[in-house]
Amino acid sequence: MQDSQNIRVRFAPSPTGHLHVGGARTALYNFLYARKTGGTFVLRIEDTDAQRSTRESYEGILRGLRWLGLDWDEGPDMGGEFGPYVQSARSVLYHSDAQRLLDEGKAYRCFCTPEVLEAMKLEAKERKTALKYDGRCRRLKPDDVEERLAGGMPFVVRFMMPADGEVRFRDIIRGDFTTQNEELDDFVLVKSDGRPTYNFAVVVDDAKMKITHVIRGDDHISNTPRQVHLYRAFDYPLPKFAHLPMILGSDKTRLSKRHGATSIDYYRDKLYLSEAMVNYLALLGWSFDDKRELFSLKALIDKFSLKRISRNPAVFDIDKMEWINAEHFKRLDLVEKTKMVYEVLEREGLIPPAFEVDLSRPVDLKLVPGTESVNEETLQPEERLNSKEFQRLALIINVIGNRLKLLKDVPGKLGYFYRDDYERDEHAIRSHLARPEVPERLNALADDYDTLQYFERDAVEETLRSLADRMEIEAGELIHPCRVALTGGTVSPDIFWVIVLLGKAKTVERLRTATKVYN
Ligand code: GLU
Repeated sequence: MQDSQNIRVRFAPSPTGHLHVGGARTALYNFLYARKTGGTFVLRIEDTDAQRSTRESYEGILRGLRWLGLDWDEGPDMGGEFGPYVQSARSVLYHSDAQRLLDEGKAYRCFCTPEVLEAMKLEAKERKTALKYDGRCRRLKPDDVEERLAGGMPFVVRFMMPADGEVRFRDIIRGDFTTQNEELDDFVLVKSDGRPTYNFAVVVDDAKMKITHVIRGDDHISNTPRQVHLYRAFDYPLPKFAHLPMILGSDKTRLSKRHGATSIDYYRDKLYLSEAMVNYLALLGWSFDDKRELFSLKALIDKFSLKRISRNPAVFDIDKMEWINAEHFKRLDLVEKTKMVYEVLEREGLIPPAFEVDLSRPVDLKLVPGTESVNEETLQPEERLNSKEFQRLALIINVIGNRLKLLKDVPGKLGYFYRDDYERDEHAIRSHLARPEVPERLNALADDYDTLQYFERDAVEETLRSLADRMEIEAGELIHPCRVALTGGTVSPDIFWVIVLLGKAKTVERLRTATKVYN
């Protein structure tokens, strides 16, 4: 058994685009493994591709990881014992390691020009064989090398691949791999501009950062035999490898933009809960058992193991993701939910409301089913929030209950509590408001509400029912048009709570406005 204190894993993104679903899953599994074992999670930025690497992407990746709650122990922004954690700042280390291989005769300088390499490529094509560098610069005499160097000829550094034999490694997820060395070529370690290649830098860094477990996407499995050669050449201890299964789109091809949004930013902007996103990402290749699917980040840390990662590809299923999101949303406590919804409303310009809401008395939370345990003081969590508005919102959320499943539905489902130009269902208006008997009824209801002294739920209900009795109609014949008049549609939470939470003035105004639909 490995001493868990020494477990060191890393997430090593290239800052060439968004943090996408696959990258975030890799980061998550590394994070979970580190937290589960009490190990260390390292963030390393692999920016050797200077042309494609951008500051914007770097910042986006860090932002995405933070949003998901995947904090790291060592990384570019915070340093650590084995820094720097950005490859472009580590050239000295690559140069000294390349020099070491050159000195030990395990690598050589190759002066082949692009034209020579192109000719080799063509020849391989003609012969229908895989392109393989033919090793001609291996045979250069030291004097020839010196002469070319003195002449300032550009060169790359290549690994001296043994002509025969084989290389093996064991993958925790995928099992044993054996590759014949003759299938591998003298791959480039250092490019002619002096920058290291991915295969070289990744080994130098993983070794120097004392990484014990390389957990990454299986698109890198074909690189691993070359990397194992490098570990052996340096005599660096070989880490354990765990290559994560591919993530596919609904049509079973590798997940890409064609399948819809793959960037984590997209889901954040669409107001998915980060904990739901983490939960869903965890299930893309890992399972706890055949049943349980809902996990908090804490529970994932507790339950995660590399052993339960599948070798089969995982399919990204947005419906499942929505379901998980809704389940997490359901489980939030009222204060947390209210804070989140408050932010959405603020973002949409809905807070403060477009109209004055005059609740005749301070709302008594205790009257709302389900809020018995809510301490009113905790409903004023931050100074910047208007506490009266916050309380009203908490009540609205409570009254709406599980009809509100996703934060992105907030503007649509709560709009009528905050402004007058809320969505209106034309069909509902035609069938419930545009009828000859409705104006008189709604006007009478508006009159009664206008004179109601205590505008509280039960009084509001009682007023409507006694009006229905007086008019000798079913209460429903008042309730339905009233609902359409106040909310724009035929589906709403308890209408009497809606009336209270809209306040007297707004209710009376909307009832009277609705009477004009027919006239
Ligand atoms: N920079 C590589 C990538 O973005 C990391 C590969 C690895 O983890 O070894 O895929």
